Amino acid sequence: MIEVRDLHKTFEKNDVLKGIDLVVKKGEVLAIIGPSGSGKTTLLRCLNLLETPSSGSIRVANITIDTALPLAKQKRDIRKLRQHAGFVFQNFNLFPHRTVLENITEGPIIVKGEEPAVAEKRARYLLKKVGMANKESAYPSALSGGQQQRVAIARALAMEPDVILFDEPTSALDPELVGEVLAVIRNLAEEHRTMIIVTHEMAFARDVADRVIFMAEGRIVEEAPAKEFFSDPKKERTRKFLKKIL
Ligand code: ADP
Repeated sequence: MIEVRDLHKTFEKNDVLKGIDLVVKKGEVLAIIGPSGSGKTTLLRCLNLLETPSSGSIRVANITIDTALPLAKQKRDIRKLRQHAGFVFQNFNLFPHRTVLENITEGPIIVKGEEPAVAEKRARYLLKKVGMANKESAYPSALSGGQQQRVAIARALAMEPDVILFDEPTSALDPELVGEVLAVIRNLAEEHRTMIIVTHEMAFARDVADRVIFMAEGRIVEEAPAKEFFSDPKKERTRKFLKKIL
């Protein structure tokens, strides 16, 4: 579903991603962990072209973005690629002047040209799925962070993406609200949706992810099936990190 080859990202003179190779299979749940500043968010944002890679190639479903190709072609493909890869932000990023329902239907109606009635029907189904059925007329400011994030997940799902990218989806939440968002993501994992989750929730990564990637200083240091990663980390750098946080 996803294939990343020799991805580099440089901000000014700061080499943030130093050659990332990554393959994610259909239905796989991948957790990305690592110290702050190691490039996790930048990698995720590159996958959705929220950041432009400095070099390398990214394929999501059947769309390939290769920095060696002409810019005009890349730009056309970026729009297409974004429809395949939904993004859930740390700070929810809901449209503040739109109701919950409108937040979810806007993408399908504007980007995909869907009939409003069709988009609303799906939105209501998705709101039920994330436990927000009774809030369709509310504005984001009237919701808790956990509720806003659940709406943001429904909004991502409404575009029917092939893959969902989560950027630290619970790190802006009060501790008592983390569980409700993780429960929604856990349900999606049980449906075998392809997902990549940047997270600091180690227990969640161990239980829900199929595979874990540990990043440090812009490189993938170690990757392994989730249970094995936490029970038997191979690299010294990984052990040091886990020891510090567990
Ligand atoms: P992580 O998600 O692992 O904490 P990030 O990907 O957020 O790491 O950041 C990695 C490095 O890239 C940091 O040094 C950060 O300052 C830098 N960085 C991220 N985004 C930008 C940007 N838009 N402009 C300049 N530097 C950036």
